[in-house]
Amino acid sequence: GHAERDADARLEETAGLALAIGLNVVERHVFRVRAPKPATLIGSGQVEQLAAMARMEDADLVVFDASLSPVQQRNLETALGTKVIDRTGLILEIFGERAATAEGRLQVELAHLDYQAGRLVRSWTHLERQRGGFGFLGGPGETQIEADRRLIRDRMARLRKELDQVSRTRGLHRDRRQRAPWPVIALVGYTNAGKSTLFNRLTGADVMAENLLFATLDPTLRQISLPGIDKAILSDTVGFVSDLPTQLVAAFKATLEEVVSADLLLHVRDIAHPDTEAQRSDVETVLADIGVAATTPRFEAWNKLDLLDPDAREAMMALAARRDDVVTLSALSGEGVADLVDQVATQLTAAHRRYTL
Ligand code: GDP
Repeated sequence: GHAERDADARLEETAGLALAIGLNVVERHVFRVRAPKPATLIGSGQVEQLAAMARMEDADLVVFDASLSPVQQRNLETALGTKVIDRTGLILEIFGERAATAEGRLQVELAHLDYQAGRLVRSWTHLERQRGGFGFLGGPGETQIEADRRLIRDRMARLRKELDQVSRTRGLHRDRRQRAPWPVIALVGYTNAGKSTLFNRLTGADVMAENLLFATLDPTLRQISLPGIDKAILSDTVGFVSDLPTQLVAAFKATLEEVVSADLLLHVRDIAHPDTEAQRSDVETVLADIGVAATTPRFEAWNKLDLLDPDAREAMMALAARRDDVVTLSALSGEGVADLVDQVATQLTAAHRRYTL
């Protein structure tokens, strides 16, 4: 049914996130949880089933696409004999890896500390309850938790001050970036839309040597050439995720900072996804939020054309044909990619004559 398809799409997205940080995903499974268990979230039979799977696959890590309390996380680690992280933990890992700017790194660290602080509070509340009620004060645990919290609070205050400073100098950097000799094309879109597949297709293995310089500076930047444009920089970004935990929003936006100064945005969309329209407006909202000018040229790559049935495919292609900022394609099969390259080059030269002079 519909719910099942949503669960599968969501699982696919999470697997995509895990792959993005180099994890090898050996097994995916949807557990239906009618009544979440305080100790382990999933039921005891499900824990056993999961433990058997983990043993069979010799897994080192189990990712829960849910929010786990610290107690649940600890109990699950014991029961499964693996490390366990939840959705927020996974997303923080990715942001940490992808934050390219000083501001991005500070925002991610701030989000990490915020996450930790929240978990200290929650585990303390839980302990209190276990001891039979509130009003139990002065136990050995309390001073430790208070001390931990103070450390985290101090560190967060220092980070906020640093962030202030960094954002004050940011304007300066942007001006410098705008004078870069090559146009910058930023890929944006939801996780799983096909950004990496398209990125790899557009850059290709043959330009690897030339890209060594960029690879050492930033693995998400690649040099490409387009018709009439000798050199352009293609910049990959961290993907959007559905149901982003609210405490991660600022960190997420910070990882997109490079997008603000891009010359052209290439928005990769999975048009076969049931939520493709909602995803499109999420992306547009965030772009406006982080200060991308409405005048920045953008292009939509309607990807995964190959997954549509013939009627839907026909309809999409007819829609796209009426717009000069949309190309339908399959990054997987390569269909439409040449067309995309041509159109992006046309847009870019129209918007930035100076690159062709
Ligand atoms: P990213 O998270 O946006 O970088 O997405 P990926 O490039 O990693 O792609 C996510 C999944 O979609 C992968 O399993 C890809 O093989 C698949 N994919 C990407 N493009 C296409 C496409 O055009 N057609 C189909 N059928 N699958 C695609």
